[in-house]
Amino acid sequence: MYQLETNCIHGGYSPKNGESRQIPIIPSTTFKYESTEQMGRLFDLAESGYFYSRVGNPTCDHVAARITKLEGGAAGILTSSGQAAIFYAIVNLCKAGDHLICTNEVYGGTYNLIAVTLKKFGIESTFLSVNSTNDEIKKAIQPNTKLIYAETVSNPSLAILDIERFAKVAHENNLPLVIDNTFPTPINCQPIKYGADIVIHSATKYLDGHSSLICGVVIDSGKFNWECDKVRFAELCEPDESYHGLIYTKQFGNIAYIVKMIVQLMRDIGACNSANNAYMLGTHIESLPLRIKKHSDNALAVAKFLEGDKRIKSVNCPMLPSSKYYDLAKKYLPNGICGVISFELNASKEKTIKFLDSLKLISIATHVADAKSCALHPASHTHRQLSPVELKAAGVSEGLIRISVGIENENDIISDIKQALDIAFS
Ligand SMILES: *Cc1c(COP(=O)(O)O)cnc(C)c1O
Repeated sequence: MYQLETNCIHGGYSPKNGESRQIPIIPSTTFKYESTEQMGRLFDLAESGYFYSRVGNPTCDHVAARITKLEGGAAGILTSSGQAAIFYAIVNLCKAGDHLICTNEVYGGTYNLIAVTLKKFGIESTFLSVNSTNDEIKKAIQPNTKLIYAETVSNPSLAILDIERFAKVAHENNLPLVIDNTFPTPINCQPIKYGADIVIHSATKYLDGHSSLICGVVIDSGKFNWECDKVRFAELCEPDESYHGLIYTKQFGNIAYIVKMIVQLMRDIGACNSANNAYMLGTHIESLPLRIKKHSDNALAVAKFLEGDKRIKSVNCPMLPSSKYYDLAKKYLPNGICGVISFELNASKEKTIKFLDSLKLISIATHVADAKSCALHPASHTHRQLSPVELKAAGVSEGLIRISVGIENENDIISDIKQALDIAFS
């Protein structure tokens, strides 16, 4: 019933009389019980309660509940990293012999996980552009396809997904749409509103926002009907032998997906987070609405400055009318996107490196999405191993710079870019 800003502060934790106002840190691996019988019921999932922090910790659960509330989901969990969240989100539905569809425009780590590592596990994939037509998406669907995966705003190319269109094609074919909503955060876009079924985050980015911890989140909208195709979703609709033949959809209804993830994947794989990390994340989320607005405003101011400078060849920022994603950005992200933008200098590799090395306030770092502005030269850093021909195919020119605009004063950031341009072009 409250608005987003209020839920960032109060969501997921309501202290009772005399209890701590802040979410308490419970750094305990284990929880005590008075009877053998009761502990047995917990292991049978006949009763709920904490017993071992790998499968559940109160601090982690409060923070997961806060983010779930912000996304408008039914239930969610914290994982050890964003990568772990993506792995769980996929493997909760896919086993060897299964298939998934993923957009081309995704984070490099996601691409490697799906194209290389999951392939070794026998999980096949088809990659297609966010600009694919409905027919092209439909053609990629196979009888063994289990999900469609995409990013709201892609890292680093900043492509914007037409969430409603992808959700429609997915649902017409009995498939869930899994969305990585890391860049906009639930403050700027809530994919579940537009039909996403599962939302994941690298909370390492804006949710934390201070480059102080690694954490992931998986959120279940509770809206997908897994029983629409009991063969396709046998993982949820058929008995689980590791729980005496329990059927998740029967026992846990609309949150079957997330419950299975906790009691099976967390139990067996163990990519959980710590109470200390969760506490810090929960606290940092309190200021998220203020921070993400400043990130978006600063990024737009920097993008406008760059667009007006002759030494700049092109600027990639979907908040600018010149972007081919401007209309989609206006529809799904009317209040702003995030702090990440990229641009191309009208210059050789040497001049581009000189520009980067002349920055004083903006630091050279591979991270994105925290309070401090930072910059990266993909041709020298993330895409260093690629040949000039491969760089061209990947759309990475020698003059390309990616900036994660922080929340410092916007004029200080722009002045820093200006003085570095003056040195590079002198
Ligand atoms: C960073 C990132 C990830 C991976 O998250 P980690 O917390 O670093 O494991 C996944 N998706 C996107 C969009 C990211 O930016």
